[in-house]
Amino acid sequence: MMNGALTLRAMFEYSQGLFPNKDIVSRTSHGVFRYHYAEFGQRTRQLADVLLSLGVKPGDRVGTFAWNDYRHLEAYFAVPMVGAVLHTVNIRLSAEHIAYIINHAEDKVLLVDSTLVPVIESLRERLPSVKAYVILDDESREASAGHLAPAYDYEELLKEASGALPALPDLNENQAMGLCYTSATTGNPKGVVYSHRGIYLHSMAMGLANTLGLSENDTAMPIVPMFHANAWGLPFAAVWFGANIVLPGPSPSPADLVELMIAERVTLAAGVPTIWMGVLKELVAQPRSTDLRMVLCGGSAAPLSLIRTYEERFGIPFAHAYGMTETSPLVVFSRLKRSQQSLPAEERYRIQASQGYAVPGIEVRLVDDQGDVPQDGQHMGELLLRGPWVADSYYRDDRSSDAFKDGWLHTGDVATIDAEGFIRLVDRTKDLIKSGGEWISSVDLENALMAHPAIFEAAVVGVPHPRWDERPLAFAVRHEGDAGDVTKEQLMDFLRPHFAKWWLPDDIIFVKEVPKTSVGKFLKRALREEYQEYLRNGTPDRPEL
Ligand code: ADP
Repeated sequence: MMNGALTLRAMFEYSQGLFPNKDIVSRTSHGVFRYHYAEFGQRTRQLADVLLSLGVKPGDRVGTFAWNDYRHLEAYFAVPMVGAVLHTVNIRLSAEHIAYIINHAEDKVLLVDSTLVPVIESLRERLPSVKAYVILDDESREASAGHLAPAYDYEELLKEASGALPALPDLNENQAMGLCYTSATTGNPKGVVYSHRGIYLHSMAMGLANTLGLSENDTAMPIVPMFHANAWGLPFAAVWFGANIVLPGPSPSPADLVELMIAERVTLAAGVPTIWMGVLKELVAQPRSTDLRMVLCGGSAAPLSLIRTYEERFGIPFAHAYGMTETSPLVVFSRLKRSQQSLPAEERYRIQASQGYAVPGIEVRLVDDQGDVPQDGQHMGELLLRGPWVADSYYRDDRSSDAFKDGWLHTGDVATIDAEGFIRLVDRTKDLIKSGGEWISSVDLENALMAHPAIFEAAVVGVPHPRWDERPLAFAVRHEGDAGDVTKEQLMDFLRPHFAKWWLPDDIIFVKEVPKTSVGKFLKRALREEYQEYLRNGTPDRPEL
């Protein structure tokens, strides 16, 4: 067989040859911007030219600090095509962490959305590696680089650039093309480097009928930010396969998302559960029909009740998937096997609410201190992963040896695997609650609480207990309006039939919202800190809302 290089450039050129007239639609602060793949390609080539003239060399890191929009998409291809490494900086990290990752990555050029300039400006004296700032101005034409220097206007640079693909360095499929940082429990974020080969194969996996079945037929909308594990790789795969692409732009609200999905006839959209909860609220308030053939949900456990509501009330198929920044991220996808499709609805939803089984190309193991544990749907163990789009280390980080051992990624997720290969995440190791020597899954309790019609979201944390080691404490957010009139006792009664007595939370605290991480997951650390006094003393005069 021939040995064709598995590179982003090959994906780009294939796509440019076949799909010049497909659409890329990008929400801006002023409306909607749209162009065809042909123009996207032209501008991407120009950007490649610009990067070379800015002195970007193979292996250099080029950072982006931007929303999901068409310019960001241009960078997604132009940066790797010049042999450089696309570092998508998470705009929601703390200033400390933003400075840390830009320095750790040693970004040479930073593409900054004009609306986000103030954040970078405040850090400019701490970013010695950055030799040029390029401002993406969201069509306002008032792009201000503030005190960033030297700073260039993206559009001005593009105008001066050649539209012919510049002479590019040869790419080796194993060379780095991307870099994302993932939050660590404590300490600084950890960098994960992606290779051309890994992203090529991961993109192929997204087109498999056993997973998303992404194709030219789709209009794909990555809601998940382009700085969160490359928007789960969706932009790379969508461009390659020639799908129409819809990018939701700066801080989209659930109403913006619904409007965009309907106006652009989106068939597949991807986001974390909190996004889908927000969109659901919007759809319930004003029911509308959509063209969605799949809602892709990952990043945290999708509650069964959410899956059921999307499917039964709106006829929208809801796909649950699992992955990590370290795994590109798609490695596990919940699709019913043929033999399961005729099961009673409740049983089907239960399977769909599991994380699913391994994507072709990925191997999984389940281990405890003694070694491999039985895959019988009962025994719990840590989930281990390996495959061609799984990282083998963190970027220049001593913590690599904690997670990467004997050729396997130790995920830090505790799971069971049943005889059909379906993986059910019990919890993140650090969130599991140890009570009287037994484990309680915070995820199971949260899902059960969120199945109550009056509850919008719920988070459960373990709190220190003198006798039992730890006990579960629940935080719940009520829906607004009449449905939200539920009491603690009613919720406890609701939980009781589903759990052993010792699993029930010691208390349920009603809060206005559950704090979220920079990528929209429940931030349990913040809850623990905020309620520390209460957790320590168990006093009744806690800050209940
Ligand atoms: P961060 O660590 O910053 O949250 P990641 O997105 O890489 O960044 O997080 C990966 C983790 O997210 C996994 O280890 C797992 O704990 C959790 N996760 C991802 N997908 C799911 C899912 N479908 N169900 C439950 N947990 C999930």
